Amino acid sequence: YRAIAENVVKKSNNVINRKAPLPAGAIDHVSRTYTEYKRLQNTLNAKRNTRSIVGERIRKTAGQGDAEAKAAALAEATQLKADVSELEATLAEVESELLTLALAIPNDTHPNSPLGPESAAACVATHGPTPIPSDSERDHVSICKKLGLLDLESGSTVTGSSWYYLLNEAALLEIALTNYAMSIALKHGYTPVLTPDVVRSDIASRCGFQPRDNSDPPMTQMYHINTPPASPELVLAGTSEIPLAGMFANKVFPSTTLPLKVVGMGHSFRAEAGARGADTRGLYRVHQFTKVELFAVTTEEGSETMMKEMVDIQKSILEGLGFPFRVLDMPTEELGASAYQKYDMEAWMPGRGSWGEVSSLSNCTDYQARRLHIRYRRPIIKPTDAECLSPTSTGLPFAHTLNGTAAAIPRLIVALLENGATFDEQGELTGIRLPEILKPFWIGQESERGVI
Ligand code: AMP
Repeated sequence: YRAIAENVVKKSNNVINRKAPLPAGAIDHVSRTYTEYKRLQNTLNAKRNTRSIVGERIRKTAGQGDAEAKAAALAEATQLKADVSELEATLAEVESELLTLALAIPNDTHPNSPLGPESAAACVATHGPTPIPSDSERDHVSICKKLGLLDLESGSTVTGSSWYYLLNEAALLEIALTNYAMSIALKHGYTPVLTPDVVRSDIASRCGFQPRDNSDPPMTQMYHINTPPASPELVLAGTSEIPLAGMFANKVFPSTTLPLKVVGMGHSFRAEAGARGADTRGLYRVHQFTKVELFAVTTEEGSETMMKEMVDIQKSILEGLGFPFRVLDMPTEELGASAYQKYDMEAWMPGRGSWGEVSSLSNCTDYQARRLHIRYRRPIIKPTDAECLSPTSTGLPFAHTLNGTAAAIPRLIVALLENGATFDEQGELTGIRLPEILKPFWIGQESERGVI
């Protein structure tokens, strides 16, 4: 709270640059509420001190037999008790208001992040083969139809539009891609985790996801689960980043044990409110998908290095899949609430005729750790005088957290089908050529129907 209250101008500019969905004057509001919170805290401490002095006086007067002094002290103590409990209640209310306000304030921004909307993203590098020209014959929806890989009709009947069944080789491809991405993460020292798909909405908002937004009419990107009254509000996880971050909540780690690196596998559920158009065709933007997710907890000094390590892992996963892709440094308006810096990777999808985001990497610095109380303890060394004066050298610093996609399955399937489709001389689709790297992860020797 103090960091926000003491940097009102910087934080307000940051909110504007990121187009954060906050009411005007939100930072000033936090600052004023924090001042009020500190004032109440000081008053409460003073009252508590006076109460212990009066308590001492009561004990003394009891031994002296001075009934009048004792009665006066008792009356004062009664009044102080009432004042203290009233102040405690007010302080708790103000603290909860402060927490709600602060939860909505976005992270700071990396000084090198481009300013502006999605179109301002900076392309950092392009990898892989030369892109195949756009070609409607390579559209993944028609490929899936011809090869019997996707059942959107049953998805629509059983659940609704943008819900789907993966069939035949597409189902096996999901398993192969999941295991391939997991295997690369394991080689880099990540611990495998299978995460719960349902999380408390409170944990989601502490990670920077707003289970309910403030738009009119209200839109939510998360599915809420009906829970009995008085039980915690639950939502379907939009990403396993949430349960992975939550695993580390309320813990203190010796800095010598960091970084902690985990790779989660879970389902991501997205309401995708407001999504329309070509993106919602086929597998590109769906309501549920399997995702392998990298997550790391590290120190302040270690987070830039960890970002580089994670981007290299993501690149090696995509390079193995053999389609063209590019890395983008994402601009301020695309950072969401929690990211300090974000790289997206986009694959070339010739059937769609465009680049499509297939993975994302965010350095959340201490944003999530502050809200989830994830801290670390530095080794005890005799500090220099200068270090004694530095506010960060004392106490337990908040950790830095980073998350990145190892494999978001449906869009990888889109890229593999659209880039790997093979045609005969008459231009008829003959099948899909998949990268050799997936062979060890394919269940069975090869596609029995001969299409992949
Ligand atoms: P995000 O957590 O939003 O950064 O998304 C991580 C990755 O999941 C993206 O890079 C996409 O590849 C994929 N993704 C996000 N939303 C969807 C969706 N609605 N349907 C399919 N894939 C998605």
